[in-house]
Amino acid sequence: MENKKCFCDTGLLFENCCELYLQKNQKAPTALTLMRSRYSAYATHNADYLLATTSISERKYYSKTEILKWATANTW
Ligand SMILES: [Zn+2]
Repeated sequence: MENKKCFCDTGLLFENCCELYLQKNQKAPTALTLMRSRYSAYATHNADYLLATTSISERKYYSKTEILKWATANTW
C-alpha cells in the first residue's frame, strides 16, 4: 500500500489513519475514529475488524459471511 488516502475522508494516508486500527491492533481512541475505522473496514472488506468492534450483545446477529457479502456488494 503506497501513499493511499484513507477511505474515511480525513485526508490522511491510510497507513497513518484507519490502517493503524485495522491492521496493527491499536484501539481507536474516540467514537469518531472508531466509526471512521469501521467505514474503512467495510471499504477494505475487513469482516474480522467489523465483528470485533460490534458490541458483544449485538454480535450474535451478525455473521462474517453476511458482513462480507454486504461489504463487497457496495461501492464505498
Ligand atoms: Zn481513516
